[in-house]
Amino acid sequence: MKAHQLKLYNTLSRQKEDFAPINPPFVGMYVCGPTVYGDAHLGHGRPAITFDTVNRYLSHLGYRVRYVRNITDVGHLTGDADEGEDKIAKKAKLEQLEPMEVAQQYTDTYHRDMALLNTWKPSIEPRATGHIPEQIALVEAILNESLAYVVNGSVYFDVLAYNQRYTYGKLSGRVLDELMTGSRDLDGQGEKRNAVDFALWKNASSEHLMKWPSPWGLGFPGWHLECTAMSSKYLGTQFDIHGGGMDLLFPHHECEIAQGNACNHRDPAKYWMHNNMITINGRKMGKSYNNVIKLTELFAGTHPELTQAYHPMTVRFFILQSHYRSTLDFSNEALQAAEKGLKRLWDAYEGLSSPNWTATLTHVEAGDASLDAEVNRLLNEIPEFVNDDFNTAKALANLFELVSTLNSVKDGLISITALSSSTIARLKTEWKTWLEDVFGLTGVTEADNEKLQGVMELLIEIRKEAKSRKDFITSDKIRDQLIAMGIQLKDEKGGGTSWAIGS
Ligand code: ZN
Repeated sequence: MKAHQLKLYNTLSRQKEDFAPINPPFVGMYVCGPTVYGDAHLGHGRPAITFDTVNRYLSHLGYRVRYVRNITDVGHLTGDADEGEDKIAKKAKLEQLEPMEVAQQYTDTYHRDMALLNTWKPSIEPRATGHIPEQIALVEAILNESLAYVVNGSVYFDVLAYNQRYTYGKLSGRVLDELMTGSRDLDGQGEKRNAVDFALWKNASSEHLMKWPSPWGLGFPGWHLECTAMSSKYLGTQFDIHGGGMDLLFPHHECEIAQGNACNHRDPAKYWMHNNMITINGRKMGKSYNNVIKLTELFAGTHPELTQAYHPMTVRFFILQSHYRSTLDFSNEALQAAEKGLKRLWDAYEGLSSPNWTATLTHVEAGDASLDAEVNRLLNEIPEFVNDDFNTAKALANLFELVSTLNSVKDGLISITALSSSTIARLKTEWKTWLEDVFGLTGVTEADNEKLQGVMELLIEIRKEAKSRKDFITSDKIRDQLIAMGIQLKDEKGGGTSWAIGS
């Protein structure tokens, strides 16, 4: 393991803490994943990239990270209230599909978008519907603790009873008395003893599509329960990091803490990390503003807020240019600036393999001691910034400051002997480490686009030839495999074929 002084901001204690995993070198990290009834949008992109960077950095330090990210494939309850439509079932009815077909379809597109954003796959990606017995067992355990009650085939968590033994609201800082008065008027339904109580298990009506037998009758689990069931199953009853977007802090994560304490008498996670929200042109992202930008729309430039397509790497770079706990405002101008910025960084990085950088050198000492010291200072600060609660913004700014030196050597304006041989070696390895390994950025060069264009023309030609000799197995295979990779072929009227990334 590499030595480090990683500090991270723990939402639970509201302060930065030294990172010390429970059982090093292992790190257990659980991040709430998508509900799969629609395409992934920017709101999915930010946590995925944030916690991918955490995963990459911890792995870089030598930790063995078990990263668990769930798939919510049981359509459940929406928002703060426990009532609401089953969105997966609604979509299934609308499109005349099996609910699991809907879930599969959007799981696939989510995976495709996450791959384009160059995020590592989680170690385990459990599905809520695959963990119904575990969820029922948790409900029974909470009932045994007398912290839940059964009404008409539904089971509710008794927040007031819980609060007599533990503290409800310690993650969000919400005070129970205020929650009680705040929600009383909104929630007039009769089943719950108190409006703050939340469903662990819901009785299913006859038209409800996804339901399972339980000791309380046919029903389905409450949303908060699946994360407790899957995190404790794969990471233990107490693990290191629990992550997610700030919108999940209350009630979802608060309820997870309550469920974890009720069943296991301990907080489920040592550190809670929350990424902040995304705004679009200064406005909250939401359906009412018609500004929810899907990732596919971003990559294809098809949303009305956008004037062009943005490469997934531009999006990733843009997200990392802000600290994950700051709000992040998306706009065309900001994305265009990010596109230029990433190109500058990438060109400088590629310049490290140019002749001036790769010339055989025999010197050891730096010809320009002050320049050498400056380069080393900038390199030394990068891990300090990343160790300071993952300040990727400042780390990237230091890489930018190094660009002019890198380019000056490449262009012969500065002799490479201005730098010591050890500094030259550091630049070469550390740029790769930070840019590619930790920040997960790759270049978007003209050459890449040209290569892709060439490969696509070749594939289209092969498919055309296969079709002309009625080899439809081959022609369909090419088309289907490309679709699986997120590339659509379109046969034009004139006989030609065009292609596009995105569905
Ligand atoms: Zn969750």
